[in-house]
Amino acid sequence: MDNRPAASEVLISEVGPRDGLQSVKTIMPTPHKLRWIDALHAAGVREIEVGSFVSPKLLPQLADTAEAVRHALGLPGLTVMALAPNLRGAQAAMQAGAHKITIPVSASQAHSLANVRKTREEMLADVREIVSLRNRSAPGMKIEVGISTAFGCTLQGIVPEDEVVALAAACVAAGVDEVGLSDTTGYANPAQVRRLFRRVRAEIGDATGAAHLHNTRGLGLANCLAAYEEGVRTFDASLGGLGGCPYAPGASGNVVTEDLVFMFEAMGVRTGIDIARLIDARAPLRDGLGNEPLYGMTPDAGLPKGFVQGAVHG
Ligand code: ZN
Repeated sequence: MDNRPAASEVLISEVGPRDGLQSVKTIMPTPHKLRWIDALHAAGVREIEVGSFVSPKLLPQLADTAEAVRHALGLPGLTVMALAPNLRGAQAAMQAGAHKITIPVSASQAHSLANVRKTREEMLADVREIVSLRNRSAPGMKIEVGISTAFGCTLQGIVPEDEVVALAAACVAAGVDEVGLSDTTGYANPAQVRRLFRRVRAEIGDATGAAHLHNTRGLGLANCLAAYEEGVRTFDASLGGLGGCPYAPGASGNVVTEDLVFMFEAMGVRTGIDIARLIDARAPLRDGLGNEPLYGMTPDAGLPKGFVQGAVHG
Protein backbone atom coordinates (compact mmCIF):
# COMPACT_ATOMS: atom_id res chain seq x y z
CA MET A 1 0.00 0.00 0.00
CA ASP A 2 1.23 3.48 -0.76
CA ASN A 3 -0.81 6.03 1.10
CA ARG A 4 1.54 8.96 0.65
CA PRO A 5 -0.54 12.12 0.48
CA ALA A 6 -0.95 14.81 -2.16
CA ALA A 7 0.53 18.26 -1.50
CA SER A 8 -2.55 19.68 0.27
CA GLU A 9 -2.92 16.68 2.56
CA VAL A 10 -0.99 15.04 5.32
CA LEU A 11 -0.70 11.40 6.29
CA ILE A 12 -1.02 10.78 10.01
CA SER A 13 0.76 7.55 10.88
CA GLU A 14 -0.57 6.16 14.15
CA VAL A 15 2.25 4.68 16.22
CA GLY A 16 0.37 4.18 19.50
CA PRO A 17 0.12 0.38 19.21
CA ARG A 18 3.94 0.30 19.00
CA ASP A 19 5.59 3.37 20.50
CA GLY A 20 2.76 3.88 22.97
CA LEU A 21 2.26 0.35 24.22
CA GLN A 22 5.98 -0.39 24.47
CA SER A 23 6.31 2.39 27.03
CA VAL A 24 3.51 1.33 29.37
CA LYS A 25 3.77 -1.46 31.91
CA THR A 26 0.26 -2.82 31.36
CA ILE A 27 0.02 -5.56 28.75
CA MET A 28 -2.98 -4.82 26.57
CA PRO A 29 -4.92 -8.02 25.88
CA THR A 30 -4.83 -8.92 22.18
CA PRO A 31 -8.62 -8.71 21.58
CA HIS A 32 -8.63 -5.15 22.98
CA LYS A 33 -5.64 -4.25 20.86
CA LEU A 34 -7.33 -5.51 17.70
CA ARG A 35 -10.52 -3.60 18.57
CA TRP A 36 -8.45 -0.48 19.09
CA ILE A 37 -6.80 -0.89 15.67
CA ASP A 38 -10.26 -1.39 14.13
CA ALA A 39 -11.50 1.82 15.79
CA LEU A 40 -8.51 3.80 14.48
CA HIS A 41 -9.16 2.48 10.98
CA ALA A 42 -12.88 3.29 11.29
CA ALA A 43 -11.93 6.89 12.13
CA GLY A 44 -10.05 7.12 8.83
CA VAL A 45 -6.49 6.41 9.97
CA ARG A 46 -4.73 4.93 6.94
CA GLU A 47 -1.32 3.99 8.33
CA ILE A 48 -0.77 2.21 11.63
CA GLU A 49 2.41 0.88 13.20
CA VAL A 50 0.76 -2.11 14.84
CA GLY A 51 3.74 -3.42 16.78
CA SER A 52 7.39 -4.30 16.88
CA PHE A 53 9.15 -7.54 16.01
CA VAL A 54 11.42 -7.55 19.03
CA SER A 55 11.99 -10.34 21.51
CA PRO A 56 8.84 -10.89 23.61
CA LYS A 57 11.22 -11.18 26.57
CA LEU A 58 12.20 -7.54 26.06
CA LEU A 59 8.71 -6.24 25.29
CA PRO A 60 5.96 -8.67 26.30
CA GLN A 61 3.44 -5.91 25.48
CA LEU A 62 4.20 -6.47 21.79
CA ALA A 63 4.46 -10.27 21.75
CA ASP A 64 1.30 -10.47 19.62
CA THR A 65 2.67 -8.27 16.81
CA ALA A 66 2.39 -10.98 14.12
CA GLU A 67 -1.26 -11.45 15.00
CA ALA A 68 -1.84 -7.69 14.97
CA VAL A 69 -0.27 -7.47 11.49
CA ARG A 70 -2.40 -10.32 10.13
CA HIS A 71 -5.54 -8.75 11.57
CA ALA A 72 -4.73 -5.28 10.25
CA LEU A 73 -4.07 -6.66 6.76
CA GLY A 74 -7.82 -7.33 6.58
CA LEU A 75 -8.68 -3.62 6.97
CA PRO A 76 -9.22 -2.00 3.54
CA GLY A 77 -6.91 0.79 2.45
CA LEU A 78 -4.65 0.51 5.48
CA THR A 79 -0.86 0.53 5.29
CA VAL A 80 0.25 -1.94 7.93
CA MET A 81 3.59 -1.07 9.50
CA ALA A 82 5.76 -2.70 12.11
CA LEU A 83 9.07 -1.85 13.69
CA ALA A 84 11.96 -4.20 12.99
CA PRO A 85 15.14 -3.54 14.96
CA ASN A 86 17.26 -6.18 13.21
CA LEU A 87 17.37 -8.85 10.49
CA ARG A 88 15.39 -11.34 12.54
CA GLY A 89 12.66 -8.81 13.17
CA ALA A 90 12.58 -7.90 9.49
CA GLN A 91 12.23 -11.58 8.54
CA ALA A 92 9.30 -11.94 10.93
CA ALA A 93 7.67 -8.80 9.52
CA MET A 94 8.01 -10.15 5.98
CA GLN A 95 6.57 -13.49 7.02
CA ALA A 96 3.59 -11.77 8.63
CA GLY A 97 3.06 -9.74 5.45
CA ALA A 98 3.61 -6.19 6.76
CA HIS A 99 3.40 -3.55 4.02
CA LYS A 100 6.19 -1.50 5.52
CA ILE A 101 8.81 -1.71 8.24
CA THR A 102 10.60 0.95 10.22
CA ILE A 103 14.18 0.34 11.28
CA PRO A 104 15.42 2.63 14.04
CA VAL A 105 18.99 3.83 13.56
CA SER A 106 20.40 6.15 16.21
CA ALA A 107 22.20 9.29 15.15
CA SER A 108 23.83 9.36 18.56
CA GLN A 109 26.64 6.84 18.83
CA ALA A 110 26.14 6.66 22.61
CA HIS A 111 22.40 5.92 22.23
CA SER A 112 23.08 3.30 19.57
CA LEU A 113 25.55 1.45 21.78
CA ALA A 114 23.29 1.63 24.82
CA ASN A 115 20.12 0.70 22.97
CA VAL A 116 21.14 -2.03 20.53
CA ARG A 117 24.78 -2.54 21.53
CA LYS A 118 25.85 -1.68 18.01
CA THR A 119 27.63 1.25 16.44
CA ARG A 120 25.86 3.26 13.75
CA GLU A 121 28.13 1.65 11.19
CA GLU A 122 27.10 -1.82 12.38
CA MET A 123 23.44 -0.76 12.19
CA LEU A 124 24.01 0.40 8.60
CA ALA A 125 25.42 -3.02 7.76
CA ASP A 126 22.23 -4.55 9.20
CA VAL A 127 20.14 -2.18 7.10
CA ARG A 128 21.97 -3.31 3.95
CA GLU A 129 21.29 -6.95 4.83
CA ILE A 130 17.61 -6.24 5.45
CA VAL A 131 17.32 -4.43 2.11
CA SER A 132 18.89 -7.33 0.25
CA LEU A 133 16.59 -9.83 1.99
CA ARG A 134 13.59 -7.65 1.11
CA ASN A 135 14.70 -7.44 -2.51
CA ARG A 136 14.90 -11.23 -2.69
CA SER A 137 11.84 -12.29 -0.72
CA ALA A 138 9.38 -9.42 -0.29
CA PRO A 139 10.06 -6.86 -3.03
CA GLY A 140 6.75 -5.05 -2.40
CA MET A 141 7.57 -4.26 1.19
CA LYS A 142 8.67 -0.71 1.90
CA ILE A 143 11.53 0.05 4.28
CA GLU A 144 11.85 3.26 6.24
CA VAL A 145 14.68 4.16 8.55
CA GLY A 146 13.71 6.36 11.46
CA ILE A 147 16.79 8.23 12.63
CA SER A 148 16.35 8.28 16.39
CA THR A 149 17.90 10.94 18.63
CA ALA A 150 18.17 13.12 15.48
CA PHE A 151 17.62 16.27 17.54
CA GLY A 152 19.60 15.45 20.67
CA CYS A 153 20.31 12.63 23.05
CA THR A 154 19.95 12.13 26.80
CA LEU A 155 23.28 10.27 26.86
CA GLN A 156 25.59 12.41 24.76
CA GLY A 157 23.66 15.68 24.60
CA ILE A 158 24.18 17.43 21.31
CA VAL A 159 23.99 15.35 18.13
CA PRO A 160 25.86 17.14 15.30
CA GLU A 161 23.53 17.93 12.38
CA ASP A 162 26.23 17.02 9.87
CA GLU A 163 26.19 13.48 11.25
CA VAL A 164 22.40 13.22 10.91
CA VAL A 165 22.51 14.39 7.29
CA ALA A 166 25.36 12.00 6.48
CA LEU A 167 23.51 9.13 8.13
CA ALA A 168 20.35 9.87 6.13
CA ALA A 169 22.39 9.79 2.92
CA ALA A 170 24.06 6.54 3.95
CA CYS A 171 20.65 4.93 4.60
CA VAL A 172 19.42 5.92 1.15
CA ALA A 173 22.64 4.57 -0.35
CA ALA A 174 21.93 1.34 1.54
CA GLY A 175 18.69 1.05 -0.44
CA VAL A 176 15.92 2.08 1.97
CA ASP A 177 12.85 3.82 0.54
CA GLU A 178 12.49 6.59 3.10
CA VAL A 179 14.36 8.16 5.99
CA GLY A 180 12.46 10.00 8.73
CA LEU A 181 13.72 12.00 11.69
CA SER A 182 12.74 11.14 15.26
CA ASP A 183 12.92 13.35 18.30
CA THR A 184 13.22 10.36 20.60
CA THR A 185 13.98 12.40 23.71
CA GLY A 186 11.80 15.46 23.13
CA TYR A 187 14.74 17.83 22.64
CA ALA A 188 13.71 19.47 19.36
CA ASN A 189 12.57 23.03 18.84
CA PRO A 190 10.81 24.43 15.76
CA ALA A 191 13.84 26.30 14.36
CA GLN A 192 15.93 23.16 14.64
CA VAL A 193 13.19 21.03 13.05
CA ARG A 194 13.01 23.36 10.07
CA ARG A 195 16.78 23.51 9.67
CA LEU A 196 17.37 19.78 9.90
CA PHE A 197 14.48 18.73 7.65
CA ARG A 198 15.60 21.32 5.10
CA ARG A 199 19.14 19.96 5.13
CA VAL A 200 17.99 16.33 4.94
CA ARG A 201 15.60 17.11 2.09
CA ALA A 202 18.39 18.90 0.22
CA GLU A 203 20.47 15.75 0.63
CA ILE A 204 17.95 12.93 -0.06
CA GLY A 205 14.98 14.71 -1.69
CA ASP A 206 11.74 12.72 -1.89
CA ALA A 207 13.18 9.92 0.21
CA THR A 208 12.59 12.23 3.20
CA GLY A 209 10.10 10.37 5.39
CA ALA A 210 8.06 10.97 8.50
CA ALA A 211 8.49 13.48 11.28
CA HIS A 212 8.37 11.53 14.54
CA LEU A 213 8.10 14.21 17.19
CA HIS A 214 7.51 13.98 20.89
CA ASN A 215 5.71 16.34 23.22
CA THR A 216 7.99 15.90 26.21
CA ARG A 217 8.46 19.64 26.68
CA GLY A 218 5.21 20.80 25.12
CA LEU A 219 6.69 21.60 21.70
CA GLY A 220 5.21 18.65 19.81
CA LEU A 221 2.63 20.56 17.75
CA ALA A 222 4.92 23.53 17.16
CA ASN A 223 7.56 21.13 15.87
CA CYS A 224 5.02 19.37 13.61
CA LEU A 225 3.97 22.70 12.15
CA ALA A 226 7.61 23.61 11.53
CA ALA A 227 8.13 20.29 9.73
CA TYR A 228 4.94 20.86 7.71
CA GLU A 229 6.23 24.25 6.62
CA GLU A 230 9.40 22.53 5.49
CA GLY A 231 7.38 20.23 3.21
CA VAL A 232 6.99 17.19 5.47
CA ARG A 233 3.67 15.45 4.80
CA THR A 234 3.85 12.34 7.00
CA PHE A 235 3.58 12.67 10.77
CA ASP A 236 3.81 9.98 13.42
CA ALA A 237 1.46 10.47 16.35
CA SER A 238 0.02 8.43 19.19
CA LEU A 239 -3.60 8.32 20.30
CA GLY A 240 -3.91 9.73 23.79
CA GLY A 241 -0.21 10.69 23.59
CA LEU A 242 0.30 7.23 24.94
CA GLY A 243 3.70 6.31 26.19
CA GLY A 244 4.73 9.11 28.41
CA CYS A 245 8.40 9.68 28.99
CA PRO A 246 10.33 8.43 32.00
CA TYR A 247 12.42 11.62 32.02
CA ALA A 248 9.45 13.99 32.21
CA PRO A 249 6.78 12.77 34.58
CA GLY A 250 3.34 14.09 33.73
CA ALA A 251 4.29 14.89 30.15
CA SER A 252 2.93 12.97 27.22
CA GLY A 253 5.33 11.10 25.00
CA ASN A 254 4.47 11.17 21.33
CA VAL A 255 2.52 13.97 19.77
CA VAL A 256 -1.16 13.41 20.57
CA THR A 257 -2.96 12.22 17.42
CA GLU A 258 -6.25 13.92 18.37
CA ASP A 259 -4.57 17.33 18.84
CA LEU A 260 -2.48 16.97 15.69
CA VAL A 261 -5.53 16.07 13.57
CA PHE A 262 -7.42 18.99 15.08
CA MET A 263 -4.60 21.40 14.28
CA PHE A 264 -4.34 20.34 10.65
CA GLU A 265 -8.09 20.13 10.03
CA ALA A 266 -8.63 23.54 11.64
CA MET A 267 -5.99 24.90 9.23
CA GLY A 268 -7.83 23.31 6.28
CA VAL A 269 -5.15 20.67 5.76
CA ARG A 270 -6.85 17.37 5.07
CA THR A 271 -6.00 14.35 7.18
CA GLY A 272 -8.83 12.05 6.06
CA ILE A 273 -9.54 11.38 9.74
CA ASP A 274 -12.89 12.05 11.43
CA ILE A 275 -11.97 13.73 14.73
CA ALA A 276 -15.13 12.66 16.58
CA ARG A 277 -14.57 9.01 15.64
CA LEU A 278 -10.89 9.36 16.48
CA ILE A 279 -11.83 10.50 19.98
CA ASP A 280 -14.19 7.50 20.18
CA ALA A 281 -11.17 5.28 19.50
CA ARG A 282 -9.91 6.17 22.99
CA ALA A 283 -12.59 3.92 24.50
CA PRO A 284 -11.11 0.55 23.47
CA LEU A 285 -7.68 1.87 24.45
CA ARG A 286 -8.92 2.78 27.91
CA ASP A 287 -10.74 -0.57 28.22
CA GLY A 288 -7.56 -2.46 27.42
CA LEU A 289 -5.18 -0.46 29.58
CA GLY A 290 -7.06 0.24 32.77
CA ASN A 291 -5.37 2.99 34.72
CA GLU A 292 -2.78 4.29 32.26
CA PRO A 293 -3.16 8.06 31.84
CA LEU A 294 -4.26 9.32 28.42
CA TYR A 295 -3.31 12.80 27.22
CA GLY A 296 -4.78 15.20 24.70
CA MET A 297 -6.29 18.66 25.02
CA THR A 298 -8.81 18.38 22.17
CA PRO A 299 -10.59 15.37 23.71
CA ASP A 300 -10.79 17.23 27.05
CA ALA A 301 -11.94 20.56 25.64
CA GLY A 302 -14.16 19.25 22.85
CA LEU A 303 -14.38 20.79 19.39
CA PRO A 304 -15.01 24.55 19.13
CA LYS A 305 -18.59 25.66 18.53
CA GLY A 306 -19.31 25.90 14.82
CA PHE A 307 -16.24 23.88 13.92
CA VAL A 308 -16.76 22.11 10.62
CA GLN A 309 -14.28 19.53 9.59
CA GLY A 310 -13.25 19.88 5.98
CA ALA A 311 -12.01 16.45 5.09
CA VAL A 312 -14.07 13.70 6.62
CA HIS A 313 -14.32 10.38 4.87
CA GLY A 314 -15.54 7.13 6.30
ZN1 ZN B 1 8.61 7.90 19.73
